[in-house]
Amino acid sequence: MKQIIVAIDGYSSCGKSTIAKQLAQYAGYRYIDTGAMYRAVALCAIRNKISDIRNQMSEITALLPQIHIDFAIQPDGTQHVTLNGEDVEKQIRTLEVGNAASQIAVIPEVRRFLVAQQQQMGKNGGIVMDGRDIGTVVFPYAELKLFLTASPEVRAERRFKELVEKGEQPVMADVLADVNDRDYRDTHRAESPLHQAEDAIVVDNSNMTREEQMSHIYRIFDEKCK
Ligand code: C5P
Repeated sequence: MKQIIVAIDGYSSCGKSTIAKQLAQYAGYRYIDTGAMYRAVALCAIRNKISDIRNQMSEITALLPQIHIDFAIQPDGTQHVTLNGEDVEKQIRTLEVGNAASQIAVIPEVRRFLVAQQQQMGKNGGIVMDGRDIGTVVFPYAELKLFLTASPEVRAERRFKELVEKGEQPVMADVLADVNDRDYRDTHRAESPLHQAEDAIVVDNSNMTREEQMSHIYRIFDEKCK
């Protein structure tokens, strides 16, 4: 059977990566979390003492040639992002790095650098890739495009729970403000803003259980592969 490209885009904290991972497992495809790649660049910038991203864009761009991002498959089948060979999966999942990633993602050189790698990773199909610009910029010809959405309040609640599970002590109002800020930056940046591809199928999961959502998505995938 033909191995297609599945592009999954949507707002932050929509459950994109969980859905993409499960769909990849169902299909027997490789999963690529492009947000992790932006986060790895952000971590590298933070480690290089870049604290004012807006005014230090050229310094971030100068770091790119020394940055090598990859994914290491773990014994349990999950993938960890690596930065120059170091497993940084845990370090990139903080609120600080997520925020920095969303600021770094407005830099055209960073986007070009990462998009080229993403296109290379998916060129033979058999891939589920999630992000903000996968169906519009990275793979405009993807056979299946899903656009995930949920209300900001529902997403903030999910993000809050995730952070608590990780041992952080978030404040709900901050988490909601962060979700809204990221939405604004993702949809208003000049380079590859988040928007729904015309041929994307919209999945609003505000009121769906995980099981309902997955069986809905599996049906769409199976239909596409027929
Ligand atoms: O999806 P995640 O929250 O891990 O992504 C981190 C940040 O990277 C997002 O807030 C978004 O601004 C940026 N991003 C992007 N394009 C992608 C993936 C992520 O701009 N394809």
